[in-house]
Amino acid sequence: MTNKLPGWDDTIVALATPPGVGAIGVLRLSGQEAIAIANALFPSKDLSVQPTHTLHVGLLKEGSAILDEAVISLFRAPRSYTGEDVAEISCHGSPFVLQQVMDACIRRGARPARAGEFTQRAFLNGRLDLAQAEAVADLIASNTLSSQRAALHTMRGGFSEKLGSLREQLIRFSALVELELDFSQEDVEFADRKQFYELVQALSRETSQLIQSFRLGNVIKNGVSVAIIGKPNAGKSTLLNTLLNENRALVSDIPGTTRDTIEEVLNIDGILFRLIDTAGIREHTSDIIESAGMQRSLEKMKQADLVLYLFDAEEMKPEVGRMKSEMETQQLNFLLVANKIDRFGEEKARAKFGEFDKMVFIAAKEHLHTEVLKERMVDTVLQGTVQAESTVVTNARHYHALKEVEKSLADIREGLDKKIPGDLLALDIRRCLHYLGEITGEITNEDQLDYIFSKFCIGK
Ligand code: GDP
Repeated sequence: MTNKLPGWDDTIVALATPPGVGAIGVLRLSGQEAIAIANALFPSKDLSVQPTHTLHVGLLKEGSAILDEAVISLFRAPRSYTGEDVAEISCHGSPFVLQQVMDACIRRGARPARAGEFTQRAFLNGRLDLAQAEAVADLIASNTLSSQRAALHTMRGGFSEKLGSLREQLIRFSALVELELDFSQEDVEFADRKQFYELVQALSRETSQLIQSFRLGNVIKNGVSVAIIGKPNAGKSTLLNTLLNENRALVSDIPGTTRDTIEEVLNIDGILFRLIDTAGIREHTSDIIESAGMQRSLEKMKQADLVLYLFDAEEMKPEVGRMKSEMETQQLNFLLVANKIDRFGEEKARAKFGEFDKMVFIAAKEHLHTEVLKERMVDTVLQGTVQAESTVVTNARHYHALKEVEKSLADIREGLDKKIPGDLLALDIRRCLHYLGEITGEITNEDQLDYIFSKFCIGK
């Protein structure tokens, strides 16, 4: 790799475990001096002669002062996370002790690591490509089974492999087209245009599949925003409580959302449903009473990925029908939820509203058919998406690069149709290769890298 960063040769140190008190706390050192620095604090054994992938227990000392009793793990280059020499010092998990050991490392020449710098080094040393490195951050942020799976798949190279094979096939053709340019006087064609056309079409299909998977990827990574809408007394807050009791998600922070607008999150089948404006529901301020209220509700509905229109099964059918057509006009993703069927009668409700599609019949208070509602919510957001087991694009940067790949493939196809000269064709192919390379990091610039890795936490 050519684009080495300032401070690239430094040995870096950071806390790898979360800040605060814990049973143990791990400090990680990486770089040429990593083992020497650990060794300087570890008088009981000479670490410099110890083999890679070994553990050593002993006292950590700085001069005569004992800092802690610790375990040091050694990973020698290139067989480490960063590809450099790495020493991990597992101390007792007191922030005070850890700070003392960290300071001692810094006094011996280490420098505090920047956010994501360990992973950045892993990337620059070729241990991971860029898509894999980004998936490390996604894995750390994952809070559901599906986001964990998608991140693991990418981190372990599933996505990169797919792109790599697209790129390889294109490079082979590009080489032939470029070769023709060397023989431009002689009007030869090394690259069979028909075969090339077929390849480009196959590549377009795969690219558009990946692009489509981003819808699911987005759902997996960021969750689905849901608005519960309905008249006063329809049962909105009852439904909210019922759903929360059954499926409240354990989340501390969801990327891309602000804490004050998002209050409650459900985890249904590994998908996070973020219930928006739950404060409004609890305070009965978002009810559809008059046209101003209706307008407010519409605004809220437009912000949501999914709208649950909740109504009392007693409600007049034409009113529900009006609401339905309004939501269709607005092209919203919605479900009609008839509530209180325990009182109204399920059969009667089904007979009354049966002609509407997108209907679910429940009794929120009695937890009746709420499982059906949840299944429908999952189905509604997954419709038309690819299977979760296949490669799923979850990263917006990859998505945008793939859109560019798609565009340049279309240009290549058009060029072939119009039989444009080889040099112009070669340009389009290069552009396509460029964007494919951007995803995995064959093609990068420093600003972009800094931006990507600055989103990581320190110590990763
Ligand atoms: P909101 O104004 O839409 O938030 O409605 P609430 O959740 O406050 O409910 C209004 C009233 O309907 C309350 O008395 C609830 O107990 C009642 N309610 C809600 N869901 C059901 C249900 O499924 N069956 C019956 N019988 N009553 C319900």
